[in-house]
Amino acid sequence: MGESTLAGQAAAVVRDGLCSGCGACVLLGPGLEMALEGGFSRPRPVEGTSPAPASPAFDRVCPGRTVVAQRPEGSRPHPTMGPVVTAAQGWATDPEFRFRGSSGGVLSALTAWLLDSGRASTVVGAAASPTAPTRTVTVRLTGRADALAAAGSRYAPVSNAAAAVLGTPDAAFVGKPCEVAAVRALARARGEAAPLLLSFFCAGTPSQDATDALVAELSGATPPTALWYRGRGWPGRFTVVGADGTEASVTYDESWGRVLGPAAQWRCKLCVDGVGDSADLVAADFWHTDERGYPSFAEGDGVSAVLARTARGAELLAAAVEAGVLETAPLEVDDLAAVQPFQVRRRTTLAGRLAGVRLAGRAVPRYRGFGLWRHVLRAPRTQLRTASGSYSRARAGGGR
Ligand SMILES: Cc1cc2nc3c(=O)[nH]c(=O)nc-3n(C[C@H](O)[C@H](O)[C@H](O)COP(=O)(O)OP(=O)(O)OC[C@H]3O[C@@H](n4cnc5c(N)ncnc54)[C@H](O)[C@@H]3O)c2cc1C
Ligand code: SF4
Repeated sequence: MGESTLAGQAAAVVRDGLCSGCGACVLLGPGLEMALEGGFSRPRPVEGTSPAPASPAFDRVCPGRTVVAQRPEGSRPHPTMGPVVTAAQGWATDPEFRFRGSSGGVLSALTAWLLDSGRASTVVGAAASPTAPTRTVTVRLTGRADALAAAGSRYAPVSNAAAAVLGTPDAAFVGKPCEVAAVRALARARGEAAPLLLSFFCAGTPSQDATDALVAELSGATPPTALWYRGRGWPGRFTVVGADGTEASVTYDESWGRVLGPAAQWRCKLCVDGVGDSADLVAADFWHTDERGYPSFAEGDGVSAVLARTARGAELLAAAVEAGVLETAPLEVDDLAAVQPFQVRRRTTLAGRLAGVRLAGRAVPRYRGFGLWRHVLRAPRTQLRTASGSYSRARAGGGR
């Protein structure tokens, strides 16, 4: 399958190990669908359809090929946390959303309010499959009950961008940074209105196999009737519920640190944007820190850091506070960077990593406008060390 077809363009990204599984290519023409392959969500031709011609917009839209930083009017660029119009700590005032949400329940309380107040006609998000709760599926949220059911992070493959609604100004979309970047790029390429783009900080999408391994540890061969990765507390526990209602769980630190985090796909290891640069509004964990300044995962009431990146996001945040949907407190963006060491390290060392992978003869995405060279000039020796480590790992076949 050559790159004269859309399926060929997508297959080349998968072959290069650069597919994030966002699903945006499905919107670039007919004949593609997303399916689990080797533990990750990947595009494949729909059986029985004739191949669509190559899309001229493909390389601008696919985050395995290109990601361009946005510079929204009125925003201040932060070197690692992205563009910011307004910043706040925030949490849902509705205690059910704050409890069920991943951190402060901000995104799910916002989506429920957008729908129930008529500000949005449709919102795309992700939730547990109703028939197989160990799987994660894209959902169209219709109001409070759905938004509550979809609250909480799911550390597994799902391709929300494939269901994005463009050209309808009152549509909204919740997705990972790569999905949001692809949807914004697609709207730009088509000259259509982008949906309101809501995102969250993301350290990477783990393989579905990692979820399945944790489920097997906790409940053996019996399929659970419910599964959540965190939430219901902050950070909450990875929990499976058996047919008789008994719960088995492990801590966030144990589930993410030991099993899920190490199973993230290769593209995520080369990601420039774990902070949702392209979103209108983004939420993150605003972890407390211990006495050494490291993030502490002790249970507590959830608090999100909320960054409005555009005027549209800032207006939404202000209106939600005014309507009593969210409560906020002041936030210094540097304080957020201090409790997100992974995101800071990933962006500040990325130039070295990309150079090492390129030297090993492997493809990397094109990133524009993220100021990666600034970090090289600041710490050239660290970049050299990173480049050398990445070169060795890439030569050894990492990411294949
Ligand atoms: C893969 C992944 C990696 C993450 N890495 C980080 C990180 O590095 N740093 C950090 O601070 N936080 C990370 N998080 C957690 C998340 O950024 C924060 O908890 C954020 O504060 C959102 O909290 P909230 O309570 O406002 O969201 P909630 O109110 O719980 O809403 C979450 C929303 O996200 C949607 N959603 C859940 N899982 C997915 C998914 N896999 N794909 C697309 N949409 C989804 C749901 O539909 C829901 O609308 C990650 C989450 C995921 C899914
Ligand atoms: S990264 Fe997204 S757009 Fe690119 S091939 Fe993968 S699913 Fe398609």
